[in-house]
Amino acid sequence: MIRMECIPVGFLDVNCYLVWAEGEESALVIDPGAEPAKVDAALAAHALRPAAILLTHGHVDHIGAVGALAGKHGIPVWLHPAELPLYRSPANALPPWVPAARDLPEPAAAVPIVPGLAFSVLETPGHTRGGVCYYFADSAALFTGDTLFAGSVGRTDLHCGDADALQRSIREKLLVLPAATRVFPGHGGSTTVGTEAAENPYLIKAP
Ligand SMILES: [Zn+2]
Ligand SMILES: [Zn+2]
Repeated sequence: MIRMECIPVGFLDVNCYLVWAEGEESALVIDPGAEPAKVDAALAAHALRPAAILLTHGHVDHIGAVGALAGKHGIPVWLHPAELPLYRSPANALPPWVPAARDLPEPAAAVPIVPGLAFSVLETPGHTRGGVCYYFADSAALFTGDTLFAGSVGRTDLHCGDADALQRSIREKLLVLPAATRVFPGHGGSTTVGTEAAENPYLIKAP
């Protein structure tokens, strides 16, 4: 069973998640969007060592602390290759609140492996072209970034968004998971696959 901690960071309250296996000290850091000192403090509070950074997508509010954390700890970063143009773009900013991220390292070619943590990468384009969700099947936990929220779905009116692709991704990759799967989104509170399948008003019901 994985353990985790949610750390809301930055002006847009991105949920940065620490994920680790019980009894292990290596942790994954998902979407360190801002406030690297706050993320470091949470790691220290659990006596964890960061092993790798996983990004659900490349929007600036999710990557702002990547440079600081990867630089300090010398750890790899992974995001879907289709996100690279967005990840590297100087226009990937939200003026005047969130400037473009600095000192971003070159992402790793392969998904990092961390002791005790088995997960799969679900490709869920729509919010962005290379958006992914991270699924820890053994622990029935799903990290959805800005693809799926409690009672909502990600915007598709931003850079490279595609509303049809987002609906397909959610229906074909996420709603097929066990109903009890816990969903940990990139913003806001957690939910379950079953709750969203039954109640999310933004999901078009299959005929
Ligand atoms: Zn986003
Ligand atoms: Zn976001």
